[in-house]
Amino acid sequence: MKLNNEVHLVGSGKSGAWITHEYDSHVYLLDGGDALALIDAGVGLEPERILANVSDAGCDPKRITHILLTHCHADHCGGTPALRRETGAQAAMSREEVDFLRDGDEDSIGLTIARREGYYPSSYHLEALDMDIRLTGGEEIMVGDLRVRTIHVPGHSIGSICYLVTGKSGTHLFSGDVVFHKGEIGLLNCPGSSLADYRASIGKLGGLGVDGLFPGHGMFAATHGQWHIDLAIEAFKSLVAPRNAIR
Ligand SMILES: [Zn+2]
Repeated sequence: MKLNNEVHLVGSGKSGAWITHEYDSHVYLLDGGDALALIDAGVGLEPERILANVSDAGCDPKRITHILLTHCHADHCGGTPALRRETGAQAAMSREEVDFLRDGDEDSIGLTIARREGYYPSSYHLEALDMDIRLTGGEEIMVGDLRVRTIHVPGHSIGSICYLVTGKSGTHLFSGDVVFHKGEIGLLNCPGSSLADYRASIGKLGGLGVDGLFPGHGMFAATHGQWHIDLAIEAFKSLVAPRNAIR
């Protein structure tokens, strides 16, 4: 599903466009001309459907150089091992969370509680994975012609990374579960999620001049993305916690 000349939606479950497995987060394909990248990897139950969508977009999956993960939750990163095997891409995640994935630590990524509550099938388990790249925030990664800047914004999870992507079609923020359409946030009651971290870090997303806001679930904004982000930033200045998208 083409969103602009440089961004395609190639994975999305029932929380979104439902074009791949029902438990998949949004998975975006960046087309930088000479190179491609994925933002997130879905849950990993039908990764071949994501790759088929990459091919349908006219892109060769073998040209994917990076799998850029927004955070450690299984609906976003569970598909990474399979997609890395198929593409040969390098996988990147926050240094705060890589050990959870390496160790298959399902408690620390919130999978144990989420599975118990039916957000994942009872038989689902994380495939452990050692990342190729540990992100701290502030890195710049080139994907062909696209410049990707990493921003560490803890709150939804301890290692949430937003990716600010600048190319010919504008400046776009891939926000994972940090901030959604209309400025809703993704606060959870599980390890790693923290209202205090949110309050301290959400300001990093101010003044970025974001055109497209492409979050991990739900509606996205093709233009005026900064307006949605600023709603969240402003909400954190009031006494009452911002509206939560995850209910
Ligand atoms: Zn999440």
